Amino acid sequence: MNTSHLTDQQIQLFVFQQGNEFEPWATHMATCKECQLKATLYRSVLEEVANLEKPVFNIDLASQVISQLEPIKPSIDFSRTLVGFIVLVLVSWLGSIVYWTSHELASLFTRLSSMATYLILLTSSSLLIFLVISLYQEFLDKMKRLTLS
Ligand SMILES: [Zn+2]
Repeated sequence: MNTSHLTDQQIQLFVFQQGNEFEPWATHMATCKECQLKATLYRSVLEEVANLEKPVFNIDLASQVISQLEPIKPSIDFSRTLVGFIVLVLVSWLGSIVYWTSHELASLFTRLSSMATYLILLTSSSLLIFLVISLYQEFLDKMKRLTLS
């Protein structure tokens, strides 16, 4: 049996960090009244610290922080403005073309042969299907990259 008393640091470790690595000290602590008294003192200090009331500030920190924040200025989204402008230009361009050629557009499909009409419809629908599939593949690729990162 170890007859020398534990140091204050060993007793603090024994009290604050319960574990198997303190087994040699536990046998001494079980028999030594002086070390048990010191351990009881440290346990009571630990309990007192744990039972301390949380400090409450008498200032309203949230309102002070919020008062220092600058209000958000409404910003113009440049990309949306650009897309809107492009769509407006395209619609007005198409409208003016339809307006100036309306007398010829009415007779366009009547003058074309049915074969030419079917070829135009087949080409445009194939192009549309290809674009939709391409957009969907791009969407899936971006979603995969988002979920991986
Ligand atoms: Zn002791």
